[in-house]
Amino acid sequence: MTHVELAVAAPAEAEDTVAVVLAACGTTGAWIPAPGDVRAYFRTPSPDLELRFASCWRRMTGEELAFTLRVRPVPDEDWLAGYRAAARPIHIGDRFWVVPPDFEPDVTGPAAMVRIEPGLGFGTGEHPTTRALLRWIHDAGPFRRALDVGTGSGVLALAAVAGGAEAAIGLDPDGLALENAARNRDLNRARGLALARGSLDAVAPGARFDLVLANLDGPALDRLLPALAGRVAPGGRLGVAGALASERSPLLTRSRRVGLVLMDERLDPDPASGGGWWSGWLRRA
Ligand code: SAH
Repeated sequence: MTHVELAVAAPAEAEDTVAVVLAACGTTGAWIPAPGDVRAYFRTPSPDLELRFASCWRRMTGEELAFTLRVRPVPDEDWLAGYRAAARPIHIGDRFWVVPPDFEPDVTGPAAMVRIEPGLGFGTGEHPTTRALLRWIHDAGPFRRALDVGTGSGVLALAAVAGGAEAAIGLDPDGLALENAARNRDLNRARGLALARGSLDAVAPGARFDLVLANLDGPALDRLLPALAGRVAPGGRLGVAGALASERSPLLTRSRRVGLVLMDERLDPDPASGGGWWSGWLRRA
């Protein structure tokens, strides 16, 4: 299969915003080979990809796009090879690692480790939103049963399993993300992880989890909050990420209404938007 590569020449401080807009614009994967050079891949050849990205940018940032764009078709092997070469090990807390397949971290004693094959699913563990949730999973675990809504590469669900969960379910409507998550499940020999295509409605109606994770975006979280809360067992935790700082207040009001109590929160800077990423760690009363 061939993908189309969209190269965005953006200043380093705008990279995160570019990545979010690319995700909203339907990219199947993106990476940053060098500061200021964001490369994103699209499955369906689209003659107006530049226009599509410019219009997503305008809608999401309220500004006109001022970066140079370049489009070219690329065979899958080429971009995946570059993507893999750029993968770095990520260290969460003192005993928890997210690493590329062949990497052996230099730790003595027991450490929880998740191996992620960089591929078409979002979530190599590098993004601040993923890291915020990984830290809570690590610090507050172990959890017995986990549900990961929008699993991407499977990284959060795998972290829950590595942290001691007996069972985890990863959901994603994107078939390519699920394929990547399945490879990562095999790579980690995580037999406790089940994957299903779709969103919350793919889970049996009565099922409750002591850990529910959702790294989506503000509007999706706002829409799904009642349903997400409904999946958390009493006393269980809901970790949400992907919202912007400006979306914090309405999300918190909504989460109170559905019986969630804020336990912890993080604001990770996003110089490009001037605001940042808001992540919340909530408990079901
Ligand atoms: N959980 C990973 C990946 C987050 S990216 C991490 O934290 O790094 C968000 C993922 O959510 C994408 O793979 C996307 O396909 C999926 N997604 C988007 N909207 C969704 C929805 N309404 N329900 C479930 N998954 C969704």
